[in-house]
Amino acid sequence: MGFSTVLGQDHLKKELLRQISGDTLNHAYLIYGHPGLDPQGFAKTFAQGILCRETRGEVPCGSCNDCKKVLSRNHEDLGIYDQEVLKVEDVRSLEKDIHIKPYRSGKKIYIINHGEGMTPQGQNALLKTLEEPPGFGIILIVARSKEALLPTIQSRCQGLGLKPVSEEGIYSALISTYGYEDGKAREAAKISGGRIKTALRFLQDEDYENRRKQLFSLYKDMKEKGITASLESLDGLSIEKDQVEEVLELSYSFFRDVLLYKALQRPQGLIHRDQEAVIKTLGSSCSNEGVLKSLKEIEKMQSHTRANVSTKSILEMLVLNIHQALSDK
Ligand SMILES: [Zn+2]
Repeated sequence: MGFSTVLGQDHLKKELLRQISGDTLNHAYLIYGHPGLDPQGFAKTFAQGILCRETRGEVPCGSCNDCKKVLSRNHEDLGIYDQEVLKVEDVRSLEKDIHIKPYRSGKKIYIINHGEGMTPQGQNALLKTLEEPPGFGIILIVARSKEALLPTIQSRCQGLGLKPVSEEGIYSALISTYGYEDGKAREAAKISGGRIKTALRFLQDEDYENRRKQLFSLYKDMKEKGITASLESLDGLSIEKDQVEEVLELSYSFFRDVLLYKALQRPQGLIHRDQEAVIKTLGSSCSNEGVLKSLKEIEKMQSHTRANVSTKSILEMLVLNIHQALSDK
């Protein structure tokens, strides 16, 4: 148990353990990183570390009452806000609650799991609490990126940026912690981008593999089949709302591979090495500029997912824009 169950992030773990043991914790932290790096899990382990009262062995111990209560989200001194859009009213309730003394321990912790979804009004309301927090109050804001929060919030939090783990690190964790066999673990580690949750999804979600292959072949055939047939193939993928980000990410890493392959003409360094044939075919039918433009289009769509745009329109725009980008020149 303890912080050792968190993969990588040694730069943060050491510092936080020092703060916990020296009782020099700050009042607010901004824990940020790609969801595949599990920043929400990191926040929970950090909260456990603060509330755990077992003083021998690892911090957190993982087996005392406090640790168990944090794990099951039932700790009296821990409030978790899961709302994807956190409104002023929610922040007001937090503000009211944080001034009530802790029940079991010396600290009271609040985790805001979707920091990027806090409305500007909500953030401004939170500022007040961040300016005058009670001595025992600690707020952990989890977000995709630091920039997702207003600069005034950023400057009042200690930033804790999660970093991707090495491919080797993911590979060993898949084998030793999750019990996967060598070949599977190797493959998942390769496409994970250093993110354990991405690797696990690849291994646990059977449809993921199909979606990945069908999506890439859609891109490969796009020019030849034309836009109407491509949009039909897209429909056939039946992509759900919570899979949009994954599709965008897969698309990005795929076109990055195409660009790399065009430059080097060899499979080394490809993320989707098993798809070399598809990558090669697409690469030979389009220009570098077309691929670069496609990457830009995907980035644009990634910022759209945060706004309230429907799944269907994001994906259709994606396919239309990439089709356009690849057809130019
Ligand atoms: Zn404990």
